Amino acid sequence: MNFAFSEEEEAFRAEVVAFLEDWRDLDAFFGQGHHWPRVKQLFQAMGARGWLSLGWPESEGGLGKPLTWEYILWDEVGYARAARNPLASGIVAKTLVRYGSEDQKRRWLGPIRSGELHFSLGYSEPEAGSDLASARCRAERHGDVYRITGEKCWQSYAQDMDLLWLLARTGTQESRGAGLSLFVVPLDAPGVTVGPLPTLDGDQLNEIHLDGAEVPVDARVGPEDGAWKIMAEALADERHIQFPPKRVRRDLEDLVDWVRENGRGADPAVRSTLGDLAVQVEEAEVQGLIVLDALRKGRPGIVEAAANKVVHTVVCQNVARAALEIAGPAALADDCGLNTLWRQSIWETIGGGTSEIMRGVVAKQALGLSGRR
Ligand SMILES: Cc1cc2nc3c(=O)[nH]c(=O)nc-3n(C[C@H](O)[C@H](O)[C@H](O)COP(=O)(O)OP(=O)(O)OC[C@H]3O[C@@H](n4cnc5c(N)ncnc54)[C@H](O)[C@@H]3O)c2cc1C
Repeated sequence: MNFAFSEEEEAFRAEVVAFLEDWRDLDAFFGQGHHWPRVKQLFQAMGARGWLSLGWPESEGGLGKPLTWEYILWDEVGYARAARNPLASGIVAKTLVRYGSEDQKRRWLGPIRSGELHFSLGYSEPEAGSDLASARCRAERHGDVYRITGEKCWQSYAQDMDLLWLLARTGTQESRGAGLSLFVVPLDAPGVTVGPLPTLDGDQLNEIHLDGAEVPVDARVGPEDGAWKIMAEALADERHIQFPPKRVRRDLEDLVDWVRENGRGADPAVRSTLGDLAVQVEEAEVQGLIVLDALRKGRPGIVEAAANKVVHTVVCQNVARAALEIAGPAALADDCGLNTLWRQSIWETIGGGTSEIMRGVVAKQALGLSGRR
């Protein structure tokens, strides 16, 4: 396993770091909902450099770069706390490249590449989160349109996005994963209502009600009832950037800065805690590189990515917990620093698949424990 980046990759990293200098005041990795207009400007500036389509094939207007480039880009953006990677240029665009019709590609890939067009992910429902195959939101075909009715919840950023990447049932309820299809639905279409669900860290997720919303048949991406395979491939496209390791490094550095500024660095208990956390951050970084290495070698990286999510979210919580213990009441009074770390690190273990589900993946796929007697 070679963890070294090439000279060209390191040069790209330097370019990204220099670019981010102009966005130092954009603190939108947490609480993007409060900063959307500027986050969109950031994405447009990245789009102008081709960075939103780094890994897309050149034939589709991308730069055709290896996965490492995307890893470096989002690692540095995460470290700068500027933003999270947009859904549109990752899951959506890569799926369109694979499964989109020529017309869909023509309509959507250009504005996604330029940072103009943005998507929210409409998978989860009130009774279908971990068990997504039980989704009930229904799309019925009537001639040239699908009529969609149902409820989605926990949609990140939907209040600011243009389109919904929607998972809906086209088969019977019993068909589970084999009866689901993917659609692109305008979030301002008649019959679509978006409402806020406040989160612990002061940001918001959303619930989305679809009440007979109509989309043309060519808003379906991929074959009818074919969503399951497409979604699995889309997840694989994102494994190397799902948890940028430098995010936890930045969490720790923020805590170390607080300790220095508040004269607590000589306290042996504080030093011991921070030393231990520094080791955990190193371990998390290695785990992120293990995911990248697996994907670069053409392996699916499913177990590696599940382990990575558990390791990262545990370290996030350990840093946040230590921050509260070290800073005490001062951390509670601090609305945007250590306090945010704590409140945010709680939900990090849920979004994108819970820790229990991730541990289940490792138990089943790495240890061969199926859960059946
Ligand atoms: C910050 C955040 C952002 C999100 N963004 C989006 C988004 O943009 N789009 C979207 O569609 N969804 C989004 N989600 C939803 C997210 O994908 C779900 O919350 C997650 O998959 C869990 O589903 P659930 O909430 O229904 O919990 P449930 O699946 O009901 O789980 C409840 C509890 O039971 C445990 N559990 C469930 N099944 C098992 C099992 N088989 N074995 C062991 N334990 C189990 C879980 O680990 C959990 O502790 C987001 C969630 C969060 C917190």
